[in-house]
Amino acid sequence: MGQLRENQERRHGVSQLSDLAQEIRVCQRCVLAKSRTNAVPGEGPEDASMLFIGEGPGFHEDRQGRPFVGAAGQYLEELLGRIGLDRSSVYIANVIKCRPPANRDPEPEEVEACRPYLDRQIELIRPRLVITLGRFSMARYFPGASISRIHGQPRRIGSVIYYPMFHPAAALHQPKWRPIVEEDFRRIPELLTRLQDVSEQKLEPPQAEQLSLF
Ligand code: URA
Repeated sequence: MGQLRENQERRHGVSQLSDLAQEIRVCQRCVLAKSRTNAVPGEGPEDASMLFIGEGPGFHEDRQGRPFVGAAGQYLEELLGRIGLDRSSVYIANVIKCRPPANRDPEPEEVEACRPYLDRQIELIRPRLVITLGRFSMARYFPGASISRIHGQPRRIGSVIYYPMFHPAAALHQPKWRPIVEEDFRRIPELLTRLQDVSEQKLEPPQAEQLSLF
C-alpha cells in the first residue's frame, strides 16, 4: 500500500477511534451501564505500536473515565519508566469498559457485550505488541491457559506479538509476584526489537507460534 494511502487510512482510523470512544461512553449494552459513573474507553496514541489490555475500570478509573489511574496504574507507569517508556507512548485499554460494582469479576455476558469495542480498537490501532494484563485479557488470546504457566511467554500470530503478563494489581496484593512481574516487564524491549524482524503479514491464519528464541 502506498504511503499516502496508508496515511489517509490512518487518519481515517484516528477519527473512527474517537467516534468509537464516544459510542463507548454512552453504551447501554449491559447492566454495568446502570452503575458506572463513567465508561473508560482507553487512551493513548492512535497509532501506538504497543497495546496494554487490562481487565476493567476500578474505582478511580470509573470516577475519571481514564484507564489505570489508581494504584495499579501508578505501578504500571513505574514499570514502563524502568524500561524507558512513558505511558503516553502506549495505548491502554481494558476488556470491559465499565466498572463492575465493588470491583467484582466481570460476568461472561459483560465481557461478550464489550468484545466488539475492544475488537474494533485493535483493528483501528493495529498494534504490533499486545500485552495482556491478568486473566481476562489473557483469555482472549490464550483460551483455557493458566496465567501462572504462560506469563512471560510471547507468542507471535502473523506480524503481532502477544505477551501475557500478570496484572500489576496482583503484584501489589501479593508481593511474592513482584519480581515475576518485573522480570516479565524487563523483557519487553527485547520483544520490541524482535518485532522489527517480523515481516508484515496479515493476522490470518491464526496459527499461533511461540517465538523460538524465548
Ligand atoms: N485495572 C484494570 O484492569 N484496568 C484499569 O483500568 C485499572 C485497573
